[in-house]
Amino acid sequence: MDLNEEKEAFREWFQSQIPETQFPQIAAQVLFECMNCNECCRGEEYGPVDREDLLVIARSFELSEAEAEARFTNPDPEERVGYRVLKSIGPERNCCFLDEKAHRCMIYESRPSICRTFPMLNPDPECEEVICFYPECLGTAKFVDMLREKSRDPDVKKEISRLQKGTERLDVLKLMQFVWLQQMAGKTAEAEDICRITGVKIPSRDSAFKRDCLAYFLMTISTDGLDEYEYDGKG
Ligand code: SF4
Ligand code: SF4
Repeated sequence: MDLNEEKEAFREWFQSQIPETQFPQIAAQVLFECMNCNECCRGEEYGPVDREDLLVIARSFELSEAEAEARFTNPDPEERVGYRVLKSIGPERNCCFLDEKAHRCMIYESRPSICRTFPMLNPDPECEEVICFYPECLGTAKFVDMLREKSRDPDVKKEISRLQKGTERLDVLKLMQFVWLQQMAGKTAEAEDICRITGVKIPSRDSAFKRDCLAYFLMTISTDGLDEYEYDGKG
């Protein structure tokens, strides 16, 4: 297959397989800044891990998969096929990898997929919206403040209008978002391959990419209900 055929095949796959709802979620995750409040690292055995997650954790501790499974996980109380859950410890039922004193995840680089995608790419299954604005997440509270301010900014409104007029620019942005997602999931080779095939640049979280993600987010997600959002965490 030559490069043009490869490009065409990829575009067809991309347009048919990636749901439109994923792009505002990726844009939000690009813009999201975690405030390390650790609220998402507490709770009774809720962090599901699949085999791939477990292998990465096992490798980081130089353990076998079976050893890592026994040491760090319990059976999934919801009995999801192929999943275990991270153990919770202590009175607050913290994730076993949370270093409470240092306010950090002890396996940050090897943390499971659910932790990498929280909160914007990981809506609560009971939430009916594309984006869940979690009240306990301090990063979400800051994100909402930023959206309230930027949605009134005339320069941002101009960017939205530019993006709405430029179909090609929009297509490139979606591809870059998808590449960013692969990178975030640790799939560097896949991300580079998509860039080689499509000709898009590897996105960095620089101001141009973030600016376009903000315009895209505000263009696709209504901020009407955001006035009702109230932070309800401990941060
Ligand atoms: S693995 Fe790390 S990021 Fe995930 S819940 Fe545990 S402490 Fe938090
Ligand atoms: S609840 Fe939100 S801000 Fe707090 S650690 Fe989790 S993702 Fe970060």
